[in-house]
Amino acid sequence: MKILVLNSGSSSIKFKLYEMGSAEEGKVLASGLAERIGEATSTLKYKRHEPNGQETARSWNDPLPDHDTGLKMIIEALADPEAGVVASTDEIAAAGHRVVHGGEAFSAPTVVNDDVVAAIKQHIPLAPLHNPANLDGIRVARQLMPKASQVAVFDTAFHQTMPPEAYMYAMPYELYKEQGVRKYGFHGTSHKYVARQTARLAGVPYDQANLITAHLGNGASMAAIKNGRCIDTSLGMTPLAGLIMGTRTGDFDPAILFYLNRQTGMTLDEMDELVNKKSGLKGICGHNDLRDVHKEAEAGNERAKLALSMLAYRNKKFFGSYFAALGRLDAIAFTAGVGENDDWVRAASLADMDHLGIVVDPKRNEGRFSEPTLISADSSAVQVWVVPTDEEYEIARETFEVLS
Ligand code: AMP
Repeated sequence: MKILVLNSGSSSIKFKLYEMGSAEEGKVLASGLAERIGEATSTLKYKRHEPNGQETARSWNDPLPDHDTGLKMIIEALADPEAGVVASTDEIAAAGHRVVHGGEAFSAPTVVNDDVVAAIKQHIPLAPLHNPANLDGIRVARQLMPKASQVAVFDTAFHQTMPPEAYMYAMPYELYKEQGVRKYGFHGTSHKYVARQTARLAGVPYDQANLITAHLGNGASMAAIKNGRCIDTSLGMTPLAGLIMGTRTGDFDPAILFYLNRQTGMTLDEMDELVNKKSGLKGICGHNDLRDVHKEAEAGNERAKLALSMLAYRNKKFFGSYFAALGRLDAIAFTAGVGENDDWVRAASLADMDHLGIVVDPKRNEGRFSEPTLISADSSAVQVWVVPTDEEYEIARETFEVLS
């Protein structure tokens, strides 16, 4: 079954075409990105994945004024007589769409119909930047691929198993009922993919696995998973809470904002920008990319050193609290840009936790990993893994499962 995975953003459409033999067996036929949609410099980058592991790259610079043209070009590229991988678009059985926010309405991947579109629209206030762009992708795919099934896979769905004591905020209960104020969590597709892989690698049946997955990228979150179900996660109602991120604060005392407003007259929009775009690593030392933070720290920059130690300390506190919430812990998994590449962050976030049965082996931990790798010592009661994430594969897998 050929499944086209689409991640439609405000000015781009990322795509990957899979041939799924079964839910556990998928191969990428082609992938790429239509970017800068709506600008004069828009491009379509396209790669055909050859059976020998090689990739044949092509790009087109035709104008892409809107998502309709973007997806049309993608479909044409997939069926291109020279570079394509299908004889006709009719061969594509389904499109799997990444949708950021499904609120409480969606706890599983869902075949798209008009009611589903309406429900995703209803959740726009919770994800004002993402859901409209995701809906654009669904709209044009329904028009341009009328024979294909359309499946929505929600970033929030995996976290819908959290119990109320984890997802409620200690605020007036009416705010939950009337305004939907609660923790939803994000990165769910990545946490689910990594959790399933980690359970398999650790040799524990997924529905019995107790895990902590740490998705550490420019945005970052952890999930506590008990018997294969998410029981807590660090991002909140919005993607601001929890860990220290590239430009976002993570947890902080929200009364700081009232203080700043009263002291400086800072407006709501300025506060929004402050906590989402000017804080995190960038706020502390001026750099949001950890590679730059390390360079600065090595050159003796005290703020960069502080940013690193704050990041590792925050990660460690979340590992500790999720361990307490789970009671028994089989494995920890690191993933995403930082989790897969930054051995310092992995080691520092789990340093001195041998009394809890967590020991990272310095040699095994060294370096960057593009394959799943065990980094804990043999003496560690809790296994620690680096597991590269693959959200597109997870969307293809879930789309396949829904349709079969
Ligand atoms: P992501 O959001 O998952 O794409 O992750 C992006 C982040 O990963 C970047 O901002 C970097 O901080 C980090 N990153 C990527 N490569 C490396 C590397 N080789 N070493 C340390 N950090 C890295």
